[in-house]
Amino acid sequence: MMSMAAPIGRSIKSSSDLDATEAAFTPKTKMVWIETPTNPLLKVVDIAAVARIGKARGAIVCVDNTFATPVLQNPLSLGADIVSHSCTKYIGGHSDVIGGVLITNSDELGERLHYIQNAVGAISAPWDCFLLLRSTKTLHVRVQRHCENAAKIADFLAQQSQIERVIYPGRTDHPQHEVAKKQMRGGYGGMITATLKGGLPAARNFLERVQLFSLAESLGGVESLIEHPAIMTHASIDKPLREALGISDGLVRFSVGIEDVDDLIADIAEALG
Ligand SMILES: *Cc1c(COP(=O)(O)O)cnc(C)c1O
Repeated sequence: MMSMAAPIGRSIKSSSDLDATEAAFTPKTKMVWIETPTNPLLKVVDIAAVARIGKARGAIVCVDNTFATPVLQNPLSLGADIVSHSCTKYIGGHSDVIGGVLITNSDELGERLHYIQNAVGAISAPWDCFLLLRSTKTLHVRVQRHCENAAKIADFLAQQSQIERVIYPGRTDHPQHEVAKKQMRGGYGGMITATLKGGLPAARNFLERVQLFSLAESLGGVESLIEHPAIMTHASIDKPLREALGISDGLVRFSVGIEDVDDLIADIAEALG
């Protein structure tokens, strides 16, 4: 989710543009924060390249790995210092717990983070810990199915005349597919973004017609969800900036679940027709 707080540093339109990333550094830059694949446009950022750029300038490099999950992508081994996950999403996987995790391989950063966590009291309740531990036991199997289903649905969407564009990092027409292939292992995740022809009315009609994809903002659960970034998750961004970023009114975001993929495809087909 985009932060509503005032920006504490410079942000750039896309950290998949490495020159822009390099140019965004100032003498005061202490941390680089990237997300890959990004929400909702699924841009892919070259983690190893950003880590090299960040390290060369003495900055801490953080990666939000929520969309990829630890099954598909391990930023620490690509040079990042801190990895974050919203456990609310794939790690929890059942849309019944809210949590987050920071992971580091630096003793110093680990101690500092632990001190802050202890000082502010940001700890999970025992029941939430139980749910998350239980969920991690099926994470790899769930992610495998999310990936298989999403790959099939992305290919199906790409063949439909009502669809203008499909964005899925696993498709060779994705602008950063080669980077995704290099840094993601054996799958490209369960998130798909697509633009419908006909803008907001077409998107609204589609969202109202799908039956198996529930209209909701979260993602990463076993059940399929669908949402409309321009009027839901990213509505707080002004329209001109939203459009400059590529979040158009016809854009819909799918969180593909682990249901039978033929059922999901039939549902989409019916809603489009
Ligand atoms: C949802 C999400 C967050 C925020 O996590 P919460 O658990 O909802 O606080 C951060 N980053 C990404 C990529 C997310 O999808």
